[in-house]
Amino acid sequence: MREELCFFGFSLFVLLVVMKFFEVLKNLFFVPKCISCNERLSPLPENEIVAYGKVCFCSDCLKKWERAKGTLCPVCSNISALCSCHPSFFKDKQPSIPSVCFYNPDSNNVQTRAILKMKRTNNAQYFEFMAEELAPSLEKVFTRMALDPKDCVFTWIPRTDAAIAENGFDQGKELAKKVAQRFGASVQPSFTRRRGKEQKLLSKKDRSKNAETSIFLKNPKHKNSFDRKGKRVKAEDLASNKAFVIVDDVMTTGATLKRGVELLKKSGAKTVIIACIAKTEAKTKK
Ligand SMILES: [Zn+2]
Ligand SMILES: [Zn+2]
Repeated sequence: MREELCFFGFSLFVLLVVMKFFEVLKNLFFVPKCISCNERLSPLPENEIVAYGKVCFCSDCLKKWERAKGTLCPVCSNISALCSCHPSFFKDKQPSIPSVCFYNPDSNNVQTRAILKMKRTNNAQYFEFMAEELAPSLEKVFTRMALDPKDCVFTWIPRTDAAIAENGFDQGKELAKKVAQRFGASVQPSFTRRRGKEQKLLSKKDRSKNAETSIFLKNPKHKNSFDRKGKRVKAEDLASNKAFVIVDDVMTTGATLKRGVELLKKSGAKTVIIACIAKTEAKTKK
C-alpha cells in the first residue's frame, strides 16, 4: 500500500514538472503582444485579479483605448453606442447600434489598429476582450426590448472564402462565439457566402448589390440545421419565432448587415438585432 502511494506521489510530481515545462515553453514561443502597438506584454503577476484590458493592451495603449471609447460622433455628438447616424434601414429597428467605438480605416489610431490586429490574429483573448467591451451596450438593447439573450440565436455573416483563406479564420465567427458565450446563449451559422467580392473593395452602391448576390441563408438541408433537441429543421421553420443577434467586427455602409437582417426577417425571424465592435464614423455635416 505504501509503495503504491509512493508511486502515485511520484507520478503526480512528474506530471507537475512536465506541465510546468510546457508552460515555460508556451511563454517562450507565444509571447502575448499588445493588440495595438504589438509590444510584448509583461507577464501578469500570478493570482492577481486582472483587469480585462491588461491581457490585450500595454498600459499606454489601454489608456488610449479607454479614451477612444469616449470619442464623440462629429455629427450627433454621441458616443458610438448611442450614435444615431447609422443607415436609415436600421433606424426604425434600432435607434442606436450596440458598439464600442468609432473606426476610421484611414487613421492609425488605437481602435483602428486593434480592429485590424483582431482580424489577422486568431487570439481568443482578443475576442473575449472585445465581447466583454460590447456586452454593456448590447445588454441595454436586450433590456429595452424585454428580451432574454438566452432565447436569442447569435450568428455572424461569413467572410469571403478568400478572406478566410488569407487569415486562416473568420473573425466574425470567433467574435459571435465569444459574445454568445458572454451571454450564455447559443451561436449558430445562419448564412452562406457564394462567390462575391470583398466588400471593402467596393463602392457603397456596389456593396449592397454584392451583398444581395453573394449572401444567402444557410441551406436548411445542411447538417447544422437542427433545432436544440436535435430535430432537423425545415426551411420555413429555420428562423420562425426566433430572435437573432448578428455580430460583426466593423459596420461600414451596413450593406452586409442589412442583407442579413432582411434574409432572417423574410424567413420568419421575429427580431433581428445587430451589434458591432466599431462603427465607421459619420462624416461631418458641411
Ligand atoms: Zn501597446
Ligand atoms: Zn452620430
